[in-house]
Amino acid sequence: MERTIIPKDCCLCDICNAQLTDGNFIATADSWWYEGWLYCADCKAEYNPTRPLVMVIKKGDDISHTDLAKPMIFESFDDNDSESTITFG
Ligand SMILES: [Zn+2]
Repeated sequence: MERTIIPKDCCLCDICNAQLTDGNFIATADSWWYEGWLYCADCKAEYNPTRPLVMVIKKGDDISHTDLAKPMIFESFDDNDSESTITFG
């Protein structure tokens, strides 16, 4: 199993990619964290999400301890059999 960890530089709006925190995960704008999605104020107003709200983040909040600041982890469950086959010629 391969594990790829991609650290985040900051948090972005999942809709329009507006930057919502600085590099220390201090909020630089108000944002709304819905389950699985982070919305900036503009996108929240436009799309009025109905999914469950996790928390409201206010400008200046430190969200470095939340899941939003955690690195993204991709795990691949491919078995390596096909790639590790050695053919002797
Ligand atoms: Zn947005």
